[in-house]
Amino acid sequence: MEHPPHLDWPFFEDRHRLLAAQLETWADKHVPVPRHRDVDSQCRQLVHSLGAAGWLRHAVAGGEYGGTDELIDSRSICIIRETLSRHSGLADFAFAMQGLGSGAISLAGTPAQKERYLPAVARGESIAAFALSEPDAGSDVAALACSAHVDGDEVILNGEKTWISNGGIADFYAVFARSGEAPGARGISAFIVEAGTPGFEIAERIEVIAPHPLARLRMVDCRIPLTQRIGEGGEGFKVAMRTLDVFRTSVAAAALGMGRRALDEALQRATTRKMFGKTLGDLQLTQAKLAQMALTIDSSALLTYRAAWMRDRQRGQGRGTTMEAAMAKLAATEGAQQVIDSALQIWGGLGVVSEQPVERLYREIRALRIYEGASEVQQLIIARELVKGMKE
Ligand SMILES: Cc1cc2nc3c(=O)[nH]c(=O)nc-3n(C[C@H](O)[C@H](O)[C@H](O)COP(=O)(O)OP(=O)(O)OC[C@H]3O[C@@H](n4cnc5c(N)ncnc54)[C@H](O)[C@@H]3O)c2cc1C
Repeated sequence: MEHPPHLDWPFFEDRHRLLAAQLETWADKHVPVPRHRDVDSQCRQLVHSLGAAGWLRHAVAGGEYGGTDELIDSRSICIIRETLSRHSGLADFAFAMQGLGSGAISLAGTPAQKERYLPAVARGESIAAFALSEPDAGSDVAALACSAHVDGDEVILNGEKTWISNGGIADFYAVFARSGEAPGARGISAFIVEAGTPGFEIAERIEVIAPHPLARLRMVDCRIPLTQRIGEGGEGFKVAMRTLDVFRTSVAAAALGMGRRALDEALQRATTRKMFGKTLGDLQLTQAKLAQMALTIDSSALLTYRAAWMRDRQRGQGRGTTMEAAMAKLAATEGAQQVIDSALQIWGGLGVVSEQPVERLYREIRALRIYEGASEVQQLIIARELVKGMKE
């Protein structure tokens, strides 16, 4: 089976090359072109088929809970996201959210919580969501105001969450709320809230430029058992950051896949479009564009897989990979936006026709520069780590 040439880089093992080749063959057959309509049912179907084929096992941790590895393997989830996003942003989204939504349980859940939720997530039978952002707490996430009051062996949740992916179709939500053990970030806890719990409702569905299920959630005196808390009281912020840390590099990989698809599309058009007695690709201005696109893609790939490889090697030990993950996300998402823009330019008028691949990519890439830490937040993280390094 053939694997993409960049997987010959020393970051990878044979199991990664096999994974990429097998997934590519599967995605060719089973990942449909995303449509603008019926995103809920498209997502449900994608989760179901990704689960049935075994790909979602990479998104959860622990062999006894349905995972492929004891800890989530960063290179594997990056390869999966890079491959899926080349085919469909929606398929990538469906895979990523199963991991992000159940990530807090994988990292800090009790054995009973893992047993109840993770195997069903891995099989694609239960849909997960990650509910951290609020109307007044996005980039400044430690400002979150949703409240959690312990009442005997129950917890009462009140407040709103917004921009919640899978909102409306998820079976359970990892909800982060202020429980007040300490001021600021040390007074936040994480909870599992199942859809249909009284007091928990979908306040609004939100439509975005690249459609996927998204909602604002409302909790009014929503009571859940205290056993639904993930980790200890006051540990929620740490759990949220650890979850994002696992998945941030994979956002870079998703952007990389979209960039690669854009370059493929650009090459296909540039080598066939006749103009001025030649083809578009014979013109040097086009060649400069193509060269820059290839350079951006390879730089992004090197940064992405450096971060993933470092994370897998350290397995949570050592000095961490915060700076490398931030560099990967910043470079790959910003870079892919430029690559896709160039591809669209090469396609000319056809590039802006609805549902053409480059038009779809142009919409799909945009949110990646905002969620899981906007580009400006990644810049601040990189600078902070640099300064910290000087002081050590
Ligand atoms: C499609 C989509 C899916 C999402 N899915 C989820 C989800 O599943 N779960 C979840 O919890 N959240 C989710 N989010 C929310 C996402 O994480 C937030 O949108 C993001 O954190 C930014 O918050 P905000 O939108 O409130 O923007 P704001 O915090 O208001 O920031 C606006 C802009 O300010 C700039 N900025 C930020 N910090 C600085 C700074 N220090 N200096 C200068 N400029 C700065 C950035 O350009 C940023 O885009 C999703 C968002 C989108 C768009």
